[in-house]
Amino acid sequence: MKPPASILRFALFVLLLTACGEQTSIPTSPNPVTASATPFPSDPTLAPVTDEPIAKSTTAPATATASPPSPTPSPTQPINEIPHYELTAELDYYQHRLSVEERITYPNNSSEPIPDLVLIIEPARYPGVFQLNRIAWGAGEAMLDYTREIGYLHIPLEQPLGPDESVELIISYDLFLPSPSPSYYGRPVPFGYSSRQTNLVDWYPFIPPYVTGQGWLVHDAGSFGEHLVYESADFEVNIHLSDSQTPLVIAASAPARVEDGWHHYKMEAARNFVWSVSDQYVMTTTTVDSIAVLGYYFAANARAGEAALQATAEALGLYNALYGPYPRQSLSVVEADFLDGMEYDGLFFLSKGFYNLYSGGPADYLTAIAVHETAHQWWYSAVANDQALEPWLDEALSTYSERLYYERIHPQGLDWWWTYRIHYYQPRGWVDGSIYNPEGYLAYRDAIYLNGALFLEDLRELLGDESFFPLLRSYSDKYTRQIVTADNFFALLGDFSQEDITPLLDKYFQHR
Ligand SMILES: [Zn+2]
Repeated sequence: MKPPASILRFALFVLLLTACGEQTSIPTSPNPVTASATPFPSDPTLAPVTDEPIAKSTTAPATATASPPSPTPSPTQPINEIPHYELTAELDYYQHRLSVEERITYPNNSSEPIPDLVLIIEPARYPGVFQLNRIAWGAGEAMLDYTREIGYLHIPLEQPLGPDESVELIISYDLFLPSPSPSYYGRPVPFGYSSRQTNLVDWYPFIPPYVTGQGWLVHDAGSFGEHLVYESADFEVNIHLSDSQTPLVIAASAPARVEDGWHHYKMEAARNFVWSVSDQYVMTTTTVDSIAVLGYYFAANARAGEAALQATAEALGLYNALYGPYPRQSLSVVEADFLDGMEYDGLFFLSKGFYNLYSGGPADYLTAIAVHETAHQWWYSAVANDQALEPWLDEALSTYSERLYYERIHPQGLDWWWTYRIHYYQPRGWVDGSIYNPEGYLAYRDAIYLNGALFLEDLRELLGDESFFPLLRSYSDKYTRQIVTADNFFALLGDFSQEDITPLLDKYFQHR
């Protein structure tokens, strides 16, 4: 018999949802969204209609012109093997304004000429948030002939960018940050500010992955789930807080070097760089395997803040051993001042709902979701995937990683985990579904996260631990810094086991 407190918590969690975003409120508009299931076409005539109200940026300058493409500077041999982003940002915390100078060096790592560029600009999805001041080629030549689409710019090139050539872009812009709720997405999202934090996620224009033979990997935003796909890139970020009178704390994807009031960050082969600022953060830290684990929480949630830090550190140590070494110097867990959470490279947000409801002890959603987000450092950051079309590759593996945490670190919580995280919801649905599930968020979560974890449990049982764990380790080693597909996963599986997995595929996968 569960004690009364557990019954109360359980009743609450019947109303709570968990996903990445690990939400603690029910989405208000789980409307189906049509997927752009194919990469963005390189032919502009096939591009989506521009400037629909859903995502218009009211302050950006003129869009397409009728003029032919302006001369593209001669591409050069790439200095870097992967894209490089240099960002210099000045934040006025209390005015909610960010001014940014950005330089992108983009090498064509594909084996074919690239006829045009695509620049993802997530902040431009929010009305009145993104103000483009200047966009130019690397040597300063103005770029006049881009087309503004929903959430991105399309930039034609006069000369295709050949394999192993690179091009530079300079972008100057301001962000007039939105309040997180209500958001453009109709659900809580990390981007923007609250009365006690400002979150800068997907805050800079970036170039999506280019797939040889297919084109740019760009998807429509869904009503739930994540639609962005990130190529590994190097980041050099310089941040200045213009209000130096108030003590402000920055949580970021990487450790800072502070000099003359500027915070300098470097991050290599990362999916993204995110940061969060608050005048109220309490910071706590520990170390595991020489990695600094940093916790940022609000004062009222001290006990939960320490528990989130502890669970993150334990999980980091476990996954280091199981999946391979975490490549960064730090990992930050940040209390999100909204009812959602999200993983990013080197940092994740954990919903305040989990902090507020923390009961003590590891058999708790705060712990389960903290270790889930920690696992995303392998299944999302190191080994990336198409989050829109094959979300199970990161979400099922991260959910199953929760099971491994309880099994190995807190076995007394394992029954709780199976009961309240998985079986209560009686999960069903195809594991290989996309984020564009017309049945809504719950069906999506049950299929991808929960049924996905059941698939991995069945797979482990079939293969045996002697093959299952080497498979996961090899999958991580082989595909780190890359973007995988389910084909990659199953091809590697074939190298590790001769077992007939057809019954499992029939049970869990629609298209295998
Ligand atoms: Zn997740």
